[in-house]
Amino acid sequence: MSELTATSISPVGPYFSPLVQGYWRLDDWQMTPQQRLSFLKAHIDLGITTVDHADIYGDYRCESLFGQALKLEPSVRQKIQVVSKCDIKLVSEAAPTRKINHYDTSYRHIIQSVDNSLSRLGVERLDVLLLHRPDALMDADEVAEAFTTLRHHGKVKHLGVSNFSPSQFDLLQSRLDESLVTNQVEINPLRFDVIHDGTLDQLQRLRIKPMAWSCLAGGELFNGDSAQATRVRETLQVIADEFGATIDQVIYAWVMRLPSAPLPIIGSGNIERVKSAINARSLTLSREQWYRIWVASKGHNVP
Ligand code: NAP
Repeated sequence: MSELTATSISPVGPYFSPLVQGYWRLDDWQMTPQQRLSFLKAHIDLGITTVDHADIYGDYRCESLFGQALKLEPSVRQKIQVVSKCDIKLVSEAAPTRKINHYDTSYRHIIQSVDNSLSRLGVERLDVLLLHRPDALMDADEVAEAFTTLRHHGKVKHLGVSNFSPSQFDLLQSRLDESLVTNQVEINPLRFDVIHDGTLDQLQRLRIKPMAWSCLAGGELFNGDSAQATRVRETLQVIADEFGATIDQVIYAWVMRLPSAPLPIIGSGNIERVKSAINARSLTLSREQWYRIWVASKGHNVP
C-alpha cells in the first residue's frame, strides 16, 4: 500500500492527510463507541488522519457519536485534524420552532454553532471551520468578525468554505486577515461543474487544494440506472480492466488527476473500501483515459 504523507492544503497550511475520512454517514453505520474508535484508529494506522464533520450530519448526531468514541482514548485527538462546518440550519427535533431549512452566517450563529460542535466532539479546537453553503444574506464583515473572535479564543485555527463560487470566495477573502484554506466541493464523474465554472481554476491559481466530496457520487456510480450513470460505469470498468484495478480506484484516480490536487473525502464505513481508495494513488490516468470518462459523462465528444 502506498505511503500517505501529510500535505499542506494551502500556502499557509494546515497539513492534512492526502485522503480524508468523512463522517456524514456515521449514524448509518450502527457502530458501538468502541467500534467507532477502532475505525478511527484503523484510519490513523493507514495514514488517514484528517476527519470531516458538520454540525448537521446525522441530524446533529454524528459529531456526538464521534466525540463518544474519542472520549474512550482522548490522546487520539493529538493524532488527527478535525474539520467541521456550520451555517446550514435544518428543520430538526433539535430545533422544534424552525419552519424551513435555511442558511445563517450571522456572527451569533457561527459562534454558537462552533461552541456546540466543540462540545459534541469533545475537543478544544477545530483545525478548520468551513462555511457549509453560500448564504445569500452573508455579510462578509460579520463572518470575518466571528472568525477573529473564534481564533482569538483558540476555538478555530483556520477558516475555509464549501460549495462557494469563485466570487463568493473572493468576497469573503477580501474581509479576512487570514487566508481561506480550502473550498470543499463536489467532484465525481457524474457531477463536475467546478472543473468548468472557474472554481478549480481559482484554487489552482491560489495553490489551495480543494476537498472533494462524494467522489463516488454517494454510491450512484455503482448502482445508478440513469443513462449517464450506465455509460460512465461501463467506461470506468473498461479503464479499470486496463489497469487491473477496480472502478472505485479509477474514480479516485480521475479526481486526483486534476491539477488543483483535490483531497478526496472517503464516505465509506467499510475499511476495505478505504484501503482500496489509498491504493488508487498508484494509478495515473493518461489524458486520453481521463477524457474518456468525461465524454462518457457528457454523452458527447469534446468540442
Ligand atoms: P461517496 O464516497 O461518494 O459515497 C459513499 C457511499 O457510497 C457510502 O454509502 C458507501 O457505502 C457507498 N459505496 C462505496 N463504494 C461502493 C460500492 N463499491 N458499491 C456500492 N456502494 C458503495 O461519499 P459521500 O459519503 O457522499 O461523501 C463523502 C464525505 O464528503 C461525507 O462523509 C462528508 O464528510 C462530505 N460531504 C460534504 C458535503 C458538502 O456539502 N461539503 C456534501 C456531502 C458530503 P459503504 O459505507 O457500504 O462503503
